[in-house]
Amino acid sequence: MKIGVLGAGQLGRMLAIAAYPLGHQMAFTANSKNEPAVLLGQTFLNNDKQDANEQLTNASEVITYESENIAVDIVKEISKKTPVYPGAKSLFTTQHRGREKAIFDKLGIPCAPYQMVNSLADLKESVETVGLPAILKTATEGYDGKGQFLIHTKDQIDKAWQSMNGVQAILEGFVSFKRELSLIAVRTMDNNHKYYPLVENTHHNGILRLTIAPAENISAKVQDQAEHYMQTLLDEMGHVGVLTIELFETTEGLIVNEMAPRVHNSGHWSIEGARTSQFENHVRAITGSPLGETDCLQQYCAMINIIGEHGPVEKVLELRNAHLHLYGKTERKGRKLGHITITASTLNEFNTTLNALEVFMP
Ligand code: AMP
Repeated sequence: MKIGVLGAGQLGRMLAIAAYPLGHQMAFTANSKNEPAVLLGQTFLNNDKQDANEQLTNASEVITYESENIAVDIVKEISKKTPVYPGAKSLFTTQHRGREKAIFDKLGIPCAPYQMVNSLADLKESVETVGLPAILKTATEGYDGKGQFLIHTKDQIDKAWQSMNGVQAILEGFVSFKRELSLIAVRTMDNNHKYYPLVENTHHNGILRLTIAPAENISAKVQDQAEHYMQTLLDEMGHVGVLTIELFETTEGLIVNEMAPRVHNSGHWSIEGARTSQFENHVRAITGSPLGETDCLQQYCAMINIIGEHGPVEKVLELRNAHLHLYGKTERKGRKLGHITITASTLNEFNTTLNALEVFMP
């Protein structure tokens, strides 16, 4: 099939790399010719001369996206002509933190206490209900910790509200968690589901640095609990494709933080680490094909992000347990330039490789 992707970043690029062996063709919309996926398919540039979305729609048999920050109206318009997966309901829900929380509440999925905030007065009131410490987050378009303010004391309330620049926000109670985890799953049009194992994520300056897959010491009960939350979300939204949920592991159990209607950075390990990668399974789901197995190929697996500068990437190629993935991007502070996956059958081999790559983890 000809698969169209709204966007041409690294996620689109890795979707293409997974789609070609299955016989598919790819098309993208892009803002510039320098974006990571541009060389991997037909590209329609967003500019004044053309409507790239319309051209993508006409050129594709199925459309997907690599960011939840796309106007729902655009997806609805495209859907009149070409199917878009995940559908408008998944996109509408996941692009607004308040709507995400509402669906968690509806389905009985535990999340941090929260209040929607539209003004300074709202914020003052919400601090009384939610308590401190709490995190104020923009309701939409926040990512990698951007658009967030951690409030410790009441004298920070004014500053926190100012940092939102007048946009709608959500105040969330601070969860004191043991670890951050994520779960990636995929659902087909005919309601088949597959789940990857829970993974552990470590962030630095709000950006994902390291994923350990599978997360250590996860009981079958905890994995089942996470899968149950995921299944209710997939079914409620009629989701088709990959869905990711980010969770906090606490002494009282799992608390869901947020979700993304797409392949996710914390699933990049699956390219070499799982029997079928998240990218291939997303492609399979949106093209109406059977899903691939999601089990780990090796006992120990990890993913390290390359952020800001490339560093000694040639060293990665010398390590027998490591695989390098570069996205063709120029260096810029905080930018995701690539990632490294590690797969090993023994803990010793795993730790040796992880230690050799320490330079990528400040
Ligand atoms: P988010 O954009 O919601 O993923 O938040 C970015 C990071 O901030 C998370 O990965 C957590 O480390 C932290 N964080 C977000 N929300 C909370 C919360 N309610 N309690 C504690 N930490 C949080």
